Parts: sequence; structure tokens; C-alpha cells
Amino acid sequence: MRSYRIAAMGGDGIGPEVVAAGVEALKVCAERDGGFTLEFTDFDWGSDYYRKHGVFMPADGVAQLRAYDAILFGSVGAPDIPDHLSLWGLRLAICQPLDQYANVRPTRILSGITSPLRNVSGPELDWVIVRENSEGEYSGVGGRAHRGLSIEVATDVSIMTRAGVERIMRYAFRLAQSRPRKLLTVVTKSNAQRHAMVMWDEVAVEVAGEFPDVTWDKMLVDAMTMRMVLRPQSLDTIVASNLHADILSDLAAALAGSLGIAPTANINPERDAPSMFEPIHGSAFDIAGKGIANPIATFWTAVMMLEHLGEAPAAARLMKAVERVTADPALHTPDLGGRATTRQVTGAVCAALRQAN
Ligand code: ATP
Ligand code: MG
Repeated sequence: MRSYRIAAMGGDGIGPEVVAAGVEALKVCAERDGGFTLEFTDFDWGSDYYRKHGVFMPADGVAQLRAYDAILFGSVGAPDIPDHLSLWGLRLAICQPLDQYANVRPTRILSGITSPLRNVSGPELDWVIVRENSEGEYSGVGGRAHRGLSIEVATDVSIMTRAGVERIMRYAFRLAQSRPRKLLTVVTKSNAQRHAMVMWDEVAVEVAGEFPDVTWDKMLVDAMTMRMVLRPQSLDTIVASNLHADILSDLAAALAGSLGIAPTANINPERDAPSMFEPIHGSAFDIAGKGIANPIATFWTAVMMLEHLGEAPAAARLMKAVERVTADPALHTPDLGGRATTRQVTGAVCAALRQAN
């Protein structure tokens, strides 16, 4: 029997609610499959931990996580703590040392969900956005200088290494190659950002040579936002830098119907450390504790986790159960215009899993 150890880290706001739902569905999934077991360990790191200890996780936190096969993460961030502290204190403090350099964000319009794009339905919008997740605009390098009272200079330095760009480009080409359309769009802003982004363009040409069966093109990020809205059918796999892909994937999540649906995986492709799976949404304090958070993003995230662990049949079964539930408007949470609760949606997904063959 295959067995996997999973670190479950709910974090803040609705994070613990949706991670609990994800763990519940994953347990049913493993039971239903019968070929593997999942052992969950809860981690209480996040903003409450910070208020008690002055840090978001213990000093040996990353070392602790290395013992697991995967991490299921909720969200970090609280209204009374500056966002840049919580982001760097937990999420990036895990992603970067564990070298989860590929952030993968599938986008589809699930059955029963309405896209804000008129006349666009299911198969016409099926993307995977690959976001560089280890360097670039979010390198954290820079500073502020005060001179006298009136002059203040602040810099955020974007650092892009050739090795970093090559590995994410290769990951994106390989992913595009594995999908039916074998189609990749490389997004940059190489007309205005004339150093590192030009290197992105060069690396794209080089790596493309290794994948002759992949059709690819390049887009400037501003034009890309228009293309996503006006010609969604023309896109399949998309690769972009840390900042650009961050923005594009929020747009993608909105076009697919709700932030409450969108999943993401922080992948360590070399598999020398665990990967981390999380919903794209944040801690959503406006609805925390009300029992109405949409758990679908976390279920889809769990599907990605099962795929990464090599449990493809179980992953497919869970995705099918999720779509059976989204197809029913009576099981939509308020973010989708419905009245269902987190519990009802979770119960329905678990029931669909038990019935699946
Ligand atoms: P953060 O800074 O942590 O990203 P945020 O408030 O900027 O937090 P979100 O937490 O993602 O962003 O919330 C944005 C909006 O989307 C909120 O109105 C929230 O209620 C809604 N939302 C986010 N996730 C969900 C979900 N799973 N179910 C229902 N509504 C959600
Ligand atoms: Mg946010």
C-alpha cells in the first residue's frame, strides 16, 4: 500500500475552513481508491502564531516540512498585520527554500459555472498559467533611502537569472507538450523592460528548439490581458514572470467564474523537497467564520496534489465529483450566487466520491 504524509496548514481567515474541507474530501478519496493512504499532520502556523511568537513559523519550520510528501496550505494574512510581513513570513518563506519554482494555475470554466465572458463556455477556456515562483520582481531586493526631509528613494529590484528563466521556460514547454493542443504563449514586457525581459525572449527561442512539436508565440503582458478577454480560445499554456503571472492569474480566476474556484500548485519539479498546494484566494476575513467559504478551489488544489503524488485515478475521480457538484446550482456558495454552505458542498463532494466508480 502506498502511503503519503501530508502537512495541512490552514493559516488565517477562511484558510482553516477550506483546508479542513479539503482534508475531509481527500480522506474519502483515499478510502474510495483503496490503493494508498494519507496521513495528515496539522500545523498552526500563521498570524495567530505570529501574535504569540513574533514569527509566522518556528526557525526550523522548513526543515520540519521536508519530512512530508506534500503541503496543503490555506491562506496567510490578517487585517491587523501588514500583508508584506505575512507573505514573506510564511508563504514565500516556505516556497523559496523548498525551491518550488513553478507555480502552476489551471483555469477552466467548470460545469454549471457562468463566466463573466459572454458567449464563452466550457471547452473554449482551458488554460494553465505557469508562474515563475522563485525570483524576478519578488526577489525582495531593494530598499528605501531618506535624504533630508523631502527626498525619498525606494527601489524594488527584479532579479532574473538565466538559470532561473531557463528552468521555468523548460517546465512550461514540457507542460505544453503534455497537453493536447501543444500550444504555449510566452508573456513578457520586453519592449519596456529592456534587460531581463529581453533575456526571457532569448531563452524562449533557445528552449523552443528542444520542443519542435510545441507551437509557441510571445505576447506583451498588456496585450495579453486583452487577448485573454477577447480571444480566450486562442490560448492554452501560458508562462510569465512572477509579477506578470500573478496579475494574469487573478484575471483568469475571475474569467472562470470566481476566486473561490481557482487552485494553484507550488511545484518543486526536481522533487527533492515537497510541493505545496493552495487555493489562489486569500484569507477573506469578510466571510471568515460564517461557514460560507467556497471549498471548490481547495478541492481542485487537492486534485493537483493527488496528480503530483502519482495518484492519477484518484485525482480524476475527485475532479469528477467536484464537477458533478458545481453542475448543481443548489450547491453553489454565495460567491457563485447561491446559498449553499461550505459543509453542504463538502458533504456533496464526499457523497459523489463514494458513489463514483
Ligand atoms: P489576501 O490579502 O489574503 O489575498 P484579500 O481580501 O485581498 O485577501 P481574498 O481573501 O482572496 O483577497 O478575497 C477577495 C474577495 O473574494 C473577498 O470578498 C472574499 O470574500 C472573496 N473570496 C475569496 N475566496 C473566497 C472563497 N473561497 N469563497 C467565497 N468567497 C471568497
Ligand atoms: Mg489579495
